[in-house]
Amino acid sequence: MARIAKVVTDIALDRAFDYEIPEAMRGRLVEGHRVRVPFGRKEVLGFVVGVAEESDVPGLRPIAGVVGEGPLVPPALLRLARWISDYYMDPIERCLKTVLPEAVRREDFGPRRRRVARLARGAPAPGRRLTAGQEGALLALGAHGAIALADARERGVSPSSLQSLEKLGLVVIADEEEERDPFAGAAFARSEPLALNGEQGAALEMVVAQVGSPQPRPVLLQGVTGSGKTEVYLQAIAACLASGRGAIVLVPEISLTPQSVERFKSRFAAAGVGVAVLHSGLSAGERRDEWHRIRSGRARVVVGARSAVFAPVSPLGLIVVDEEHEPSYKQAEAPRYHARDVAIVRGHFESAGVLLGSATPSLESLHNAARGKYLLARLTGRIDSRALPPVRVIDMRQEAARHRGPVALSDRLVRAIGERLERKEQTILFLNRRGHSSALVCVKCGFVVQCPDCSIALTYHRRPEQMLCHLCGYSAPAPRACPECGDTRIRYAGTGTEKVEEAVARIFPAARVVRMDSDTMTRRRAYEEAFAAFRSGRVDILVGTQMIAKGLDFPNVTLVGVINADLALHLPDFRASERVFQLLTQVAGRAGRGEAPGAVFVQSFTPHHPAVQFAKSHDVDGFADQEMECRRQLGYPPFGRAILVAFRGEEQKAVVAASEEVGEALRARLPEGAVLGGPCPAPIPKIQRQHRYQVFIRGSSMKPLARVVRDAIVALRARRGVSVAIDVDPVFLL
Ligand code: ADP
Ligand code: ZN
Repeated sequence: MARIAKVVTDIALDRAFDYEIPEAMRGRLVEGHRVRVPFGRKEVLGFVVGVAEESDVPGLRPIAGVVGEGPLVPPALLRLARWISDYYMDPIERCLKTVLPEAVRREDFGPRRRRVARLARGAPAPGRRLTAGQEGALLALGAHGAIALADARERGVSPSSLQSLEKLGLVVIADEEEERDPFAGAAFARSEPLALNGEQGAALEMVVAQVGSPQPRPVLLQGVTGSGKTEVYLQAIAACLASGRGAIVLVPEISLTPQSVERFKSRFAAAGVGVAVLHSGLSAGERRDEWHRIRSGRARVVVGARSAVFAPVSPLGLIVVDEEHEPSYKQAEAPRYHARDVAIVRGHFESAGVLLGSATPSLESLHNAARGKYLLARLTGRIDSRALPPVRVIDMRQEAARHRGPVALSDRLVRAIGERLERKEQTILFLNRRGHSSALVCVKCGFVVQCPDCSIALTYHRRPEQMLCHLCGYSAPAPRACPECGDTRIRYAGTGTEKVEEAVARIFPAARVVRMDSDTMTRRRAYEEAFAAFRSGRVDILVGTQMIAKGLDFPNVTLVGVINADLALHLPDFRASERVFQLLTQVAGRAGRGEAPGAVFVQSFTPHHPAVQFAKSHDVDGFADQEMECRRQLGYPPFGRAILVAFRGEEQKAVVAASEEVGEALRARLPEGAVLGGPCPAPIPKIQRQHRYQVFIRGSSMKPLARVVRDAIVALRARRGVSVAIDVDPVFLL
């Protein structure tokens, strides 16, 4: 029987410590158990991450106590944390933290009881005048129903006025097992399963067969926007629930909108199945409550962004990854896991089905489908056979020649917007760059105002007027004259959403325009309000960034304009074309969702680029074929695997030295057929005063690459002020 427990504590980073399992606990203690252990002179909480017969360490101290009945962390999640630690080369402690929300890790086992204030029932009218604070508290209680004392201040209520109200008999304060439901109060009309069309039915059958299989294979569901993928998800989840297991739905954070959540809530919550929603806006307490609701089985469907892949659903029957191609599934900080890939691994560990859905699947997933690792289901038509909108590409070089200089809106796009205004239809203008102008350029000497701390130009913002660094947030007043030569002729080069809004307002002074980007949408409410205004027809034209590109369904939108298709095309990233194609396809899918047919105008300086041309003809397969061929020839993913090692530090010399040391170590043991890129400066060589260098290694399979990178990093001399990051299957290359 195991005598030794390996325990990771919250205070000691990066490693597990051995403890002796006291006689009475032997055989009972398993991994995932929450324990109290002596640590230095204190006692701290920790997790058992493994048990063993022997330890090399003499004189072990015993575990002081076990918290809770069974293991808090489902063993499957521990296994997943270990896999992430191993595959993404990150310490197990940090991976455990990733798998377990902070708020859950730092508490004792069991639901927390909280002091909660409520209005007393049938309370008498107060015998004396209340203070302003007390009146405010009563109003807040009226609005919220109940307030936990711990949250009172956050709600603008002082705990002492609640207590004084309790003495007056107006308020009751009691211990309650409070559970915060972020959607509490919202009612959901029950939705019934729709009768599926033939392709949907075949896709569902395929998924359900996998969910029921002991060794399920992931299914890739490729379906154009509006082809009814979500309905397939819903019915697959229903089948999974019927077999007694729970499901997780991953969506990109940006599309975790109330509208999309509502579809899951009204299918399941309204039928009595608990649905938990996990997004970045939750408070620590809400996150913790949702976690326990899932862990205890009270919520069996989980909808959430990236980290919801770690939801403690058990037993797990299905993971759906919607928009599986989205780069936001990759975590930018360590551990740099990809939630889609983690979903595949988790599905494998727990014999759960995995359903990946997209209109424009990643080349990685298409490749896996082509070699039989995934099954492929397709939805080729839109529901009700509505046509995909025609896409017109506008050559902005000709436009600039005609206007003797660059313009934000081409004549044809302007004409099309005018027609929509006349017909009382709506327009969306999309541009993935906020601010007014992407650079201020001196006409005389060519000087460009740069960020002092980053190697990029500052963006000009007009309201309020300032120069802003989009990487680090540095801001400075806009210069009236060139800081270099003093000339006052300054050119506002490059177009941002603010400039588009300005141009639209100038050309169509009567149009009602709303701009949505991270400058105007600083509050979550603002976002919902803007959409509500657009939906209700109080807005004619919506100008916005990325945030308007996804998942929105507005029947009265008959025109979508892409202001600059080339923005991301020339980034030094081998996935640049793929991203642009996906984005154009995605944006084009926003038009013509209703009765009236839609049109899409794409403005481009490289109108013949394949990403633009294939998007024009809605040819997902054509694009994939040609892009696959490029990748194959270059040995880039999905045909090869890659690891990026990134070096950062304020002192350039030290950063260069570290990168060269690793570069040499890698070159010395380069696996056969592997290719080494760098060391060299990163595409953006400096951000926030940190110099950035990198080494990029790729080869035909991951294992040998991982081995040499691991060895090279272990051998690296520590240098003060230089951080080294390993990125396995990198997605962000800038
Ligand atoms: P996708 O997720 O592929 O973009 P959706 O699932 O949102 O597509 O479907 C688009 C629209 O078609 C939705 O309004 C949905 O309710 C409707 N729909 C989906 N499947 C069917 C069906 N079998 N019969 C009728 N309407 C459907
Ligand atoms: Zn900066």
